[in-house]
Amino acid sequence: MLESLSSKVHDEGRQGEAYQPAVAAAREFRKRFYIESYGCQMNFADSEIVAAILNDNGFGATGNYAEADLILLNTCSIREKAEQTVRNRLHLFRQVKESRPGMLIGVLGCMAERLKSKFLEEEKLVDMVVGPDAYRTLPGLVAEAETGQKAVNVLLSREETYADISPVRLDSNGVTAFVSIMRGCNNMCSFCVVPFTRGRERSRDAHSIIRECADLFEKGYKEVTLLGQNVDSYYWLDEAADHTVTFAQLLERVALIDPSLRVRFSTSHPKDITDDVLLVMARYDNICRYIHLPVQSGSTRILQLMNRTYTREWYQAKVDRILAMIPDCGLSTDIIAGFCTETEEDHQDTLSLMRYARYDMSYMFFYSERPGTLAARRYTDDIPEEVKKRRLDEIVKLQNRLSLEKNKEDIGRTFIVLIEGDSKKSAADWRGRNSQNKVVVFPKGVSGLRKGDYARVKIEDCTGATLIGRVTE
Ligand code: SAM
Ligand code: SF4
Repeated sequence: MLESLSSKVHDEGRQGEAYQPAVAAAREFRKRFYIESYGCQMNFADSEIVAAILNDNGFGATGNYAEADLILLNTCSIREKAEQTVRNRLHLFRQVKESRPGMLIGVLGCMAERLKSKFLEEEKLVDMVVGPDAYRTLPGLVAEAETGQKAVNVLLSREETYADISPVRLDSNGVTAFVSIMRGCNNMCSFCVVPFTRGRERSRDAHSIIRECADLFEKGYKEVTLLGQNVDSYYWLDEAADHTVTFAQLLERVALIDPSLRVRFSTSHPKDITDDVLLVMARYDNICRYIHLPVQSGSTRILQLMNRTYTREWYQAKVDRILAMIPDCGLSTDIIAGFCTETEEDHQDTLSLMRYARYDMSYMFFYSERPGTLAARRYTDDIPEEVKKRRLDEIVKLQNRLSLEKNKEDIGRTFIVLIEGDSKKSAADWRGRNSQNKVVVFPKGVSGLRKGDYARVKIEDCTGATLIGRVTE
């Protein structure tokens, strides 16, 4: 089984993170739930919706699974490794359950549909399996499982967006928050399991998004990230007003909540990001100068097999356009090494495209065949493991070089940094991000700044991952 060599895989530091309430719960809860989340940011945001539903039904969160009445794993199917990790955790929780027989174990999210019978009947690892569109039925499923029945709901929906549910912010820094604006995906990238696990694309009611962002701002949050598998294809029909809302319009409305609320978004499929979006970005200072633009491969032949619907040249032109309209825009990407039939020449095309785009950061993966995808049905996973590994290693090394080069160019520049908390290494330093999404660390000194404040920081030094600076007037 293959693993990625990169540390920047789906925010590896957060994989399996257990959630606790950010604020001590004011309410008394009848029971406790423990939830661990895997995979992309959408899954982490979904866990906050699940927490809200459970809170309303008498369950409070705990960070200690040994005291939980309900253990939930919000799972990811994107690569084989993610599935294996979840399986190992389930075996551990099964053992815990042996000494606490009343405890329930449930699997949520992307693994639900494909592995429901395996987990429930064959391996008898879990009591409940709940798909990403069925979280409203969780309380009923818990009640069912409490009577000893196996509880399952993996139905996908064409409408569910959980628009009316206010997520409970779990383990939040109180400064930055994620806001889900759409669910599912209609693209059929041949390697990807998401359209099968998360269903058809649907956009959330724009009013509820604005309300959620405004509410976060009122509570002291300073940055929202609008989330979806493909945010640029956001499209919502406001039936009451008889007009539609595009992503560019939504972005503008969120930016208008307050100039001191930063706005980010993720992820953009290159085919969907329009000039309208770039124009809105250029117009508002509080929309961050940063785009995550997954390329996957630099070879047009491989891109065609991946069904990405763009060529290498088209992608390069998109990068040019972004930088022409927003010259200081930070760029990051996703890359898959060793997709079916990939030759050395294709691989070199990926490396040269990376040099062309000069990404600030990349999420880099081995190709991992996923059952049921177009690639699994049509192509042979024919690149030997050691070749995938070596190619990924070359991609990671190049990205590390590019990141360091790009960071060095920032030395001497001054950025507005939103302070997110203490630096991981020293409580004497603040840690925050600039508009381009780069992590900036600087001494607290005597400036009287607090978490959630903006600071003007002049960069004096860097590593490949961090800018190091000092507060300036
Ligand atoms: N919707 C986003 C997009 O289109 O770019 C990304 C969604 S996916 C959760 C995140 C990344 O996982 C993808 O961009 C891709 O690089 C990687 N990925 C997806 N399927 C994969 C597979 N079968 N093997 C390896 N990496 C994969
Ligand atoms: Fe998967 Fe492609 Fe949809 Fe992204 S756009 S979620 S890679 S199918």
